Amino acid sequence: MRAFSFERPDSVAAAANAVATRPGAKFIAGGTNLLDLMKLEVEKPTHLVDVNRLPLASVSETADGGLRIGALVRNSDLAADPRVRKDYGVLSRALLSGASGQLRNKATTAGNLLQRTRCYYFYDTTKPCNKRDPGSGCSALEGFNRIHAIVGASQDCIATHPSDMAVAMRALDAKVETILPDGKAEVIPIAELHRLPGSTPQIETILQPGQIITAVTLPPPLKGVQIYRKVRDRASYAFAMVSVAAVVDAVGGKIRSARIALGGIAPKPWRVPTAEHALVGATPGEPAFREAGRALVAGARGWGDNDFKIGLAQRTVAAVLSAATRAA
Ligand code: SF4
Repeated sequence: MRAFSFERPDSVAAAANAVATRPGAKFIAGGTNLLDLMKLEVEKPTHLVDVNRLPLASVSETADGGLRIGALVRNSDLAADPRVRKDYGVLSRALLSGASGQLRNKATTAGNLLQRTRCYYFYDTTKPCNKRDPGSGCSALEGFNRIHAIVGASQDCIATHPSDMAVAMRALDAKVETILPDGKAEVIPIAELHRLPGSTPQIETILQPGQIITAVTLPPPLKGVQIYRKVRDRASYAFAMVSVAAVVDAVGGKIRSARIALGGIAPKPWRVPTAEHALVGATPGEPAFREAGRALVAGARGWGDNDFKIGLAQRTVAAVLSAATRAA
């Protein structure tokens, strides 16, 4: 690990300013991803700004009946919050499917959104990787790419975003509250927070240097059945090959609305509004569900080892829709 300096600011403004004004500075909260990357010298911050003592660790109700989740709320605490368990079950289940108990006790809401890919080559500093070392190449294209993306990727990077929590938040249309270094507040729909890689895979979000996430807000509770299904290589402590977060409102055998976000298949939580709209009024059943699965991964391509994800994603969507409409 490289040497770095450290500070622990006592306000959000001071934290934002510290990262904005010092080249190579980074925020650190739970550190469950950043410290691993620093030990491998994938991340080499010159200065760490510890935000753990900022007053951002509470969950409160919003004026419109939704929920405001502080950026420092730990994943375990959020999953166990009675309001989340009762009204946002898809989020609670997604959180509990991620990492391990120890990691969830440390990992924070904002850190979870900003965690970096688990592409093997990103962590291996002996191998080319455009995300770690722009312009060096992508080892995954011709390498072992079982865990990689089938939609949203580019010839410069085919990595996936690893979060479960973010997939559920995408299905819920969460909003990300931030403060810019000049003190202005900016609210970012979660759909816009993460960028697709294009030719600059090292830039993963639209956040500016020093822009700090202070909270995530959820809308008022949604009608319908909420499901989070994660398909992975082992039953715990594994990232998703495919995951589906769904909120499906069905009455009298008809679907009134469906929100379906996919994880494990793209550089960001993946949602296709036209596929959701096509389900409205559809007669629930295998043909409609299979068509929704196809539409959600329209244009997908595999890279060899991950070709199986295309069919797996379609079947998982159909299975989740079947389960949701049975439970409605
Ligand atoms: Fe790097 Fe992305 Fe290629 Fe992985 S997929 S080696 S993160 S450029």
